[in-house]
Amino acid sequence: MAKANEQEIELYQGSKRIHPKWTTGFFSKWRIAMVLITQFVFLIVPWFNYDGRQAVLLHVADRHFYFFGLVLLPSDLIFMSGILFMAAFGLFWWTTIAGRLWCGYACPQTVYTEIMMWFDRIFEGDRAARLKLEKAPWDARKIRIKLMKYTAIFLMCAWIGLTFIGWFTPIREVFKFNMTGTQWGVAIFYGFVTFLLAHIMREQVCKYMCPYARFQSAMFDKDTLIISYDPERGEPRGKKKKGDDTKKGDCVDCTLCVQACPVGIDIRNGLQYECIGCAACIDVCDEVMVKQGKPKGLIRYTTESAMEKAYPESKIWTRLKRPRVVGYGLILAIILTAWIIGIFNRQNVRVDVIKDRGVIARYNEVGRAENTYTLRFLNASDKVQVVNAEITGIDGIQLTGVPANYELNPGDPVSLPVQVSIPAELANADDGKSTQHIFFKFTYKAKDGSEERTFEEKAAFVKEIR
Ligand code: SF4
Ligand code: SF4
Repeated sequence: MAKANEQEIELYQGSKRIHPKWTTGFFSKWRIAMVLITQFVFLIVPWFNYDGRQAVLLHVADRHFYFFGLVLLPSDLIFMSGILFMAAFGLFWWTTIAGRLWCGYACPQTVYTEIMMWFDRIFEGDRAARLKLEKAPWDARKIRIKLMKYTAIFLMCAWIGLTFIGWFTPIREVFKFNMTGTQWGVAIFYGFVTFLLAHIMREQVCKYMCPYARFQSAMFDKDTLIISYDPERGEPRGKKKKGDDTKKGDCVDCTLCVQACPVGIDIRNGLQYECIGCAACIDVCDEVMVKQGKPKGLIRYTTESAMEKAYPESKIWTRLKRPRVVGYGLILAIILTAWIIGIFNRQNVRVDVIKDRGVIARYNEVGRAENTYTLRFLNASDKVQVVNAEITGIDGIQLTGVPANYELNPGDPVSLPVQVSIPAELANADDGKSTQHIFFKFTYKAKDGSEERTFEEKAAFVKEIR
């Protein structure tokens, strides 16, 4: 029992469900647009076809990554790592400039939470109606509303779970329910996790689980864009009554910014790590300001330095030239340039020339000095490639074993044993060299006639025959 002046606090305090107020306005429209754009990419793009196959597919079973005309194989790990590096540095760069813009508009947690809140609003109404419904007894009306809402959420999560599998295996097969037990398991798990994180846990994920929320403060500086309440303009806050001449700030203490906040904080208490930068408070406060006949922007995008009057807010963009932004931008530009150059110079056909150590250099049946090799071909494109091979490096050198117009199907490596021979009088030559460099020259073009390329592979020829 707590004595007077003592406060009893629970060791574990369950969080209250937050029912944010629906907002309209400039930034709310951007949030809706980002939901539509990201979900168009996630749910619709896998249905696009390119050249008779799914345009975007991380085909796990085939170990191929298709992105329209680009096909990456496990041997292209460097390009896949490049994509991840660009995503990481892009995020660092963007966070340094614009703070939690990713969290507020494009993070899957934000986007799916927004979708779940649409369902809340469609079936249960806005904040006041939802709060009322929460307190209401479980009568027929409440059961009917909840049943309809959770059916819609279930269908949405099922769609999301199945589409997730459709990124890794052909989506048309997935939606014919032609899936393995593991794929079913992953689809159900992914759909359930979406429901759990976006509908049940919501802001708890950003507050307590998201690692990015923890380390992004390392990328913030005083010139990073933040959402901030202007206390100089807003305080002292308070409702203005008719005939009350006491000088008050612009904040009328309507608490709408708190009601609209999806993480349940009061932005007027200053910058808080829970703030995901969704700008709902800006929209709702701007509406209040307009009604009060005051200028918008009591809560606005600004920087810490601008709030401290280190420079006028109109000059925020000039701070883009600071070393951290330039540094991240430069790294990003270098990786992007290297990635593009690499992709354009990437060989569709790759060949490993392997000297066959099991077969010694010898004279063949027509008396020429011969070495054997294995050519390991890989067609890294999604088209049949027609290959021709030549050999150079020693006078009179000949290559046998590679058929003219040799056709390579896309996919797994193919090994071809080949023989290289030189005139007998050049073997065991008195030049002090037991081996000499030779050059396999390969020319390939896609069977449909597009793009012809030539490249060389160097190998050693053993001239010393015992
Ligand atoms: S919405 Fe604006 S006016 Fe209303 S309490 Fe928040 S800051 Fe003050
Ligand atoms: S304080 Fe404003 S910007 Fe931050 S999470 Fe709440 S509503 Fe969004």
